[in-house]
Amino acid sequence: MAKSASKSGTSSADKRKPKLGQNFLVDATAARRIVEALGDISQRTVIEIGPGRGVLTNLLIPRARRVIGIELDRVLAAQLRMGYATKPNVEILESDFVTVEFASMVGRRPGPLHDLRPTQAETVDVVGNLPYYVTSDIVLRILELHPHIERAVIMVQKEVAERIAAEPGSRNYGLLSATAQLFARVENLFTLPPSSFSPPPKVHSSVLRLTMAPRLEELRVAEGLFITFLKLAFAQKRKTLLNNLRGKYPEADVRKALKAAGLRPDVRAEAVPLEKSAALFRALQQE
Ligand code: SAM
Repeated sequence: MAKSASKSGTSSADKRKPKLGQNFLVDATAARRIVEALGDISQRTVIEIGPGRGVLTNLLIPRARRVIGIELDRVLAAQLRMGYATKPNVEILESDFVTVEFASMVGRRPGPLHDLRPTQAETVDVVGNLPYYVTSDIVLRILELHPHIERAVIMVQKEVAERIAAEPGSRNYGLLSATAQLFARVENLFTLPPSSFSPPPKVHSSVLRLTMAPRLEELRVAEGLFITFLKLAFAQKRKTLLNNLRGKYPEADVRKALKAAGLRPDVRAEAVPLEKSAALFRALQQE
């Protein structure tokens, strides 16, 4: 899995080193566009990843039924809690989104929220201007939570957005693209310059909307095993699929399965659409 580039470098305008990917959005129009990209949230629970100073949270509170902010920074979490003390539909959890259990994100809590308890079947929406040092892990976590999430609107580094949305056969297509497109429809909505943030990062940023639409049944693959297979297939991008797979499977089996899936023996994983990867995976399972 390619790691997203660090956003920690800052321009000469602000030499402070942003901690925990803390480049705060200062473009009010962009903040509104991000929240509007969630659609009608009046009856929805929205989980915000890293509310920071609350630029998105302030817009979510009057629009959503319930807002849950997951903020890792202790000081920011305390400030947000104080700032929203009188707002009954918002909760701030001081947690790491990558590791916090979903049940404890949305679970029952005492206090004024008792009538906002989610039902078992309720899905949530997710929004966040992501801390770029941990983008891949957060995106993979969102995808892993697909049964609980309907849509996610996330800001990521422009190059990472291009990778997530890349088509098979393009240079940018990789494990992150394949995994994202296995679980969601991906739309690249708009791009922002560094000046939209304080402190400004070195990179441009893009907003993606992931609408969950898992393809596991259609592709007839089991989630865990297929993800493990994709990780192996993309293990070394420059190698052919055959070379990446023959560490785990006998070469003759891989050649046979490639043929059965209609793939050339010298194909690389980046050129293979998900349908064909699934056919190859199924053929190998039968060997
Ligand atoms: N939403 C704010 C905005 O748009 O201005 C802040 C965005 S800033 C790029 C990322 C935020 O995520 C920071 O507030 C940072 O403290 C927080 N953060 C960093 N790592 C996190 C993690 N693993 N889980 C939750 N929040 C995290």
